[in-house]
Amino acid sequence: MAVKYPYNLDKKKRELAGRYSRARIAGYILNNFIITLAFLYAFTASGMNASLYSSMGLSGVAGIAVYGFAVLAMLSASNLPLRFYFTYVYEHKYGLSNFRIGGWAKDYLKGLAVSYAFILPAIIAFYLITPLGGWWIYAGAAYFFANAFSNFIYPVAVTPLFYKLRAYRDKVHRKKILDMLKRAGVGGIEGVYIADESRKSKKPNAMFSGFGKTKRIVLFDTLTRFFAKDEVETVIAHEVAHYVNKDITRFIILETAKMLAIFWAMDRIAAVYGISLTNAASLPFVFAVYLVIDFLLMPAVNWYSRRREHHADLFALRTAKKKKAQISAEKRLADMALSSVPHPLIEAWFYTHPNFMKRIEMCKKWKKS
Ligand SMILES: [Zn+2]
Repeated sequence: MAVKYPYNLDKKKRELAGRYSRARIAGYILNNFIITLAFLYAFTASGMNASLYSSMGLSGVAGIAVYGFAVLAMLSASNLPLRFYFTYVYEHKYGLSNFRIGGWAKDYLKGLAVSYAFILPAIIAFYLITPLGGWWIYAGAAYFFANAFSNFIYPVAVTPLFYKLRAYRDKVHRKKILDMLKRAGVGGIEGVYIADESRKSKKPNAMFSGFGKTKRIVLFDTLTRFFAKDEVETVIAHEVAHYVNKDITRFIILETAKMLAIFWAMDRIAAVYGISLTNAASLPFVFAVYLVIDFLLMPAVNWYSRRREHHADLFALRTAKKKKAQISAEKRLADMALSSVPHPLIEAWFYTHPNFMKRIEMCKKWKKS
């Protein structure tokens, strides 16, 4: 299919993007923060939590697992209406979703199963650790290993649950991509794959994962179909930058520091309110403290993330050496995903990437040196 290149921003899409992103951010804060906190508060203050916990009459690891599962299931249920609205109805309204209802439900349930598979063991480990003196240090250390492990396992065990992967058949382009990466010092890539995102949405993306001999590139078919080949190369160069710059390791360390702060504050707050963290019935309190402090630390974590993204863009400019294509890809991406330029405070708090206009401006100013 012929792709219009270079791409220029579309006025209609820009107007649409403004409306689309404002409500989406509001929905995100409402569902993931306000509704969740309100539920946790009501659940505890009404005495429902205490009676659920005692009525189960469970003890030990199995007890924690069953009770933890019940709390997680209720949290998921309380978030489901808005989750459905914003990830299905709203996305369809703006023409961003290709999902049919059955496909959406399947992905939603798979997503829940995966998140429970990570969170339930974490809850059990947490209550095995809290009886220890200085537990928050051990909990932080456990988090470090769990985070590293999930980063390792995710591309191999989780990504294939959501996508059918097939080899990228464009041999000429594939060779160009691999040659570019070899020049950047990234050799031994096991393969370049295409993921069937177009079944779900119109949003383009690319991923680079693995270590040693398992390094692979995964391109969404929404990227290979609707982007010029030069643009695709700049997107890949950006993803590979995260690998070369060791951004995954940096974030495992940063998130561990964040969790240490959260666990320490949790220990202090629990002491003030006389809440026993060795009792699994404190789970709603644990979730609430995590949510609030994580929310307060978001500007710091996201500031660092935007810096790393900026460095990845610079690496892409140096590696792909296609400034015009990188600017064009940035514009196309913004129109396809309906990203907009947010209020500076919203950007500072929630944005993991610099807004697209900043990224374009940076490319324009960049000179080979
Ligand atoms: Zn990035």
